[in-house]
Amino acid sequence: MRTKKKQKANPEISEEEFLCSAKSYLSTDFPNPQRVGCPPEAQLNTLAERPRNADPAVRQHITCCSPCFKRYMELLTDLRGRKAV
Ligand SMILES: [Zn+2]
Repeated sequence: MRTKKKQKANPEISEEEFLCSAKSYLSTDFPNPQRVGCPPEAQLNTLAERPRNADPAVRQHITCCSPCFKRYMELLTDLRGRKAV
């Protein structure tokens, strides 16, 4: 079974909301010590920097991989810190 939905910008849920709901459990609930199926850091970077351009698979991945999610949060924090200056 294949479901191919169009990846469209969804105005109803912001990146913030997505992260808020995800943050609480994602950073610990999905340990992945062997980093199975993890995307390269460059892709996490893209997701943090330009979520619209990121591979949906990467976004999907961070929702089920704590190490990547944590790394993503770091990148995001870093990014915002730089932008705020
Ligand atoms: Zn991962």
